[in-house]
Amino acid sequence: MNWQHQPRQSLGFFPTPVHPLSNLSAHLAGPQIYIKRDDLSGLALGGNKVRKLEFLLGDAMQQKADCIITAGAAQSNHCRQTAAAAAKLNLPCYLLLGGSAPTLAQGNVLLDKLFGATIIWAGQQRKGEGIEELAQQLMQKGMNPYVVPYGGSDALGSLGFTAALHELQQQIDELDEIVFASSSGATHAGLMLAKAELGLEVNLRGINIDKLNHGQQSFNQTIADLANSAAKQVALDKSFTASEVCLDDNYLGEGYGIIGDAEREAIMLLAETEGILLDPVYTAKAMAGLISRVRQGAYRSDQNILFWHTGGTPALFAYADDLLS
Ligand SMILES: *Cc1c(COP(=O)(O)O)cnc(C)c1O
Repeated sequence: MNWQHQPRQSLGFFPTPVHPLSNLSAHLAGPQIYIKRDDLSGLALGGNKVRKLEFLLGDAMQQKADCIITAGAAQSNHCRQTAAAAAKLNLPCYLLLGGSAPTLAQGNVLLDKLFGATIIWAGQQRKGEGIEELAQQLMQKGMNPYVVPYGGSDALGSLGFTAALHELQQQIDELDEIVFASSSGATHAGLMLAKAELGLEVNLRGINIDKLNHGQQSFNQTIADLANSAAKQVALDKSFTASEVCLDDNYLGEGYGIIGDAEREAIMLLAETEGILLDPVYTAKAMAGLISRVRQGAYRSDQNILFWHTGGTPALFAYADDLLS
């Protein structure tokens, strides 16, 4: 079975737009920079998780799940998009969020509540450590929960980005590099699978945004493992090794979700030159990485670089103090 024949639940509006960032490119005086607008993927203020959820919830529907569980950080975009998708499918949604209940629900937490999700605050655990225990509890009550893994990153979730690169290839060719934020890994893995399948030359540069993905080797291996399991899922005869994963660890800054000068500058620059909003946790770090690389002269002026905007904009509103300080 190839990826086109996997069960899939339509949730977003695709293809998302691709367009040049002419003002930013002129400002930086480097390569031609394009953007892929997954911040406009449609569901619940958009983002890259919609692509993964089309495959994951396609599977959930086939398994006749009667509720959805997932997990993430307090300001998880993944959880917000999952809550919206579950609402659309008329399924109760349980979210395990890191931290404790805020006094004022802001950004993604506000939206989770609007989508009617049940939030369980998980303290120190922001990576879904308690997911299986919750699934067991719901099963004991006679329910049939579907567990969407942390970040939507497993073999099925990866296929969302295999489909995405096929989509992009219809829109633009002759790209030298695609730059994107990498965190739980399926965005990177799915793109790698499609690149191999299509025989493309483009470099896939994931900007690591989470210090907990420590030791470059181990996160490279996670991404290669995801790509291998996705290949197996669709019976594609491809295999990947950690050394093939282009993961850039140079822009971790102060760590996950912490805004420093580079992230703030990236958000301001894109807002002021293009009228486009980045998010504070993922795309700001990835764009800061791209800006820094252009300034270092890492690209030639005749190269075409695409920045994949993976969404996350609602989190901006939870970071007002950090952004304007
Ligand atoms: C989840 C997320 C990412 C990272 O994608 P992974 O597939 O988890 O690596 C990047 N940007 C935003 C806005 C996200 O929400």
